[in-house]
Amino acid sequence: MSLTTDPQDPRLGHGADREPGPQNPVYLVLSEAERAKGFVRPLRLSYRHAGIPGPQYPLRDLTDEERERYAGSGYVRYEEYPRDGSSALGRLWTQAQLDAIGKGCGSVTTMDRAIAESYSRSPAFYGATYCCRCMRHLPTGPQGEFTWIEPDGSEAGNRVGT
Ligand SMILES: [Zn+2]
Repeated sequence: MSLTTDPQDPRLGHGADREPGPQNPVYLVLSEAERAKGFVRPLRLSYRHAGIPGPQYPLRDLTDEERERYAGSGYVRYEEYPRDGSSALGRLWTQAQLDAIGKGCGSVTTMDRAIAESYSRSPAFYGATYCCRCMRHLPTGPQGEFTWIEPDGSEAGNRVGT
């Protein structure tokens, strides 16, 4: 495994994997100069494959109209967001998504330091990361599969990529 600061490097992988496989030959990192500008998150070196988070707000059944509109899509429940003026009104959930909540393999993966520093400088720099046990790249972010191990070894459930 090696590192590059060139986002056009053809050896880079992109996004999540459907099937298990090895790590990519090359990973993208921020340049040393960019990382030296300062971290906006603690420097965390490891993350746990926790599985996707559950809904933040209560779920309701689909209305008849929604059932018709989303027929064949697999959506079974609707998470209604509070009406606080934000653009998103809610989120549809499939049964497969509901069944997957919190069902990561639980393994901890430790990163190369330059990758960890890239996360700390730019928390949403990566859209996916590798689980060493599942041998797949899986999504990061607020709805992603991974939570941070904090620098002191504790876990607060902070999502990788946020
Ligand atoms: Zn895993």
